[in-house]
Amino acid sequence: MPIIVQKYGGTSVSDTERVMNVARRIVAKQSAGNQVVAVVSAMGNSTDELLRLAHEVSADPPERELDMLLSTGERISVALLAMAIHELGRTAISLSGNQAGIQTNTVHTQARITGIETRRLIEELESGKIVLVAGFQGVSPEEDVTTLGRGGSDTTAVALAAALDAGECEIYTDVDGVYTADPRIVPGARKIGAVSYGEMLEMAATGAEVLMLRSVEYAQKYGVPLNVRSSFTEKPGTWVREEDESMEKAVVSAVTHTDDEAKLTLLRVPDRPGVAATVFGALAEQNVNVDMIIQNVSEQGTTDISFTVNRPDLPAAQKALDAISGDMGVAYLIGEQMGKVSIIGAGMKSYPGVAAKMFRTLAEAGINIEMISTSSIKVSCVIERAKVEAAVRALHAAFNLGKAV
Ligand code: ADP
Ligand code: ASP
Ligand code: MG
Repeated sequence: MPIIVQKYGGTSVSDTERVMNVARRIVAKQSAGNQVVAVVSAMGNSTDELLRLAHEVSADPPERELDMLLSTGERISVALLAMAIHELGRTAISLSGNQAGIQTNTVHTQARITGIETRRLIEELESGKIVLVAGFQGVSPEEDVTTLGRGGSDTTAVALAAALDAGECEIYTDVDGVYTADPRIVPGARKIGAVSYGEMLEMAATGAEVLMLRSVEYAQKYGVPLNVRSSFTEKPGTWVREEDESMEKAVVSAVTHTDDEAKLTLLRVPDRPGVAATVFGALAEQNVNVDMIIQNVSEQGTTDISFTVNRPDLPAAQKALDAISGDMGVAYLIGEQMGKVSIIGAGMKSYPGVAAKMFRTLAEAGINIEMISTSSIKVSCVIERAKVEAAVRALHAAFNLGKAV
């Protein structure tokens, strides 16, 4: 019997009525002759609620305890879903990440899956049960609960699909696929029929939260096609898979955005070997992920270096810079309210003028570009946070993304 791995996101199980809806969908899959494994996220925004509680008790909660707390959200969902399936007359078993054999490294709150012991999963499936796995969590070699980072249930599902050789992984969410821009911001955004892993990686990395970046990396590495679709309708979704002839050959396929960037500029840094290594070494030591970096030309032996970080990492970044800036005798400026817009498209590799059109579009909308970075299939611009939505809409219109190719 084929194994189907599905994932249901938080909105899809935000109340008990929706839990019943998901139960019916899972039962229908089983009735169609499949062995079903369903990964489930915490109900609604209960992960945010748990984080709020933690920060009410502690300004800097120990990460091991945060993981213990956050992992409970998905446990509630799987247990309720198992009960709902029992009500429908089928047998289901809910499993925590640990019980499902999901092994991770020890990096609490951002753990990586290192392996999956599938014995229990296979035994339960063979005995005719529907298997429900709490998403976003695993167990470390120290036997502690770990979580996989925000959006991590996507990664749980893809990793299970790979380990169980499921052939594909169905991601059920509150939109019916991957769109040319976030449909919450661009009402005229269009659903994409199929998108390559490469483009989806760039989209996820630049803010399309519909799939967690790591889940797409995993899918590409293990060749698991993803089908992103709605848990509320029967509409066909979006395929994320190896590039093939049937895919649209758009120069630009999508516009993505983030609104949680902060920009730091180090002023008049001595222009000599080892300075960048010191600055970015100090940031790495504070576990700060740096996104864009720009170093200007040197004048009279000094240069300015600007870089961006996620806004929540700003205090840690400041701590790192304060520790070294005294020794180096440099000051820094902070732009706290920044965002980023990006255009992504496999076709831009062989098409000149795409970046110029992006810059012109932003200029015509009166939006100043503060930093730029490119890859072969992406151009990103850091801009003021307040202008992000206008920028996304302007770019979506300028590249005609609302119209079928
Ligand atoms: P889930 O709880 O199911 O994991 P998420 O909230 O993580 O769902 O992701 C779905 C949301 O991603 C959508 O509601 C949508 O607003 C947002 N999103 C951002 N960019 C895109 C995009 N390009 N295509 C589809 N959805 C997007
Ligand atoms: N509940 C977790 C989160 O809110 C994991 C997930 O939804 O995928 O990030
Ligand atoms: Mg998600």
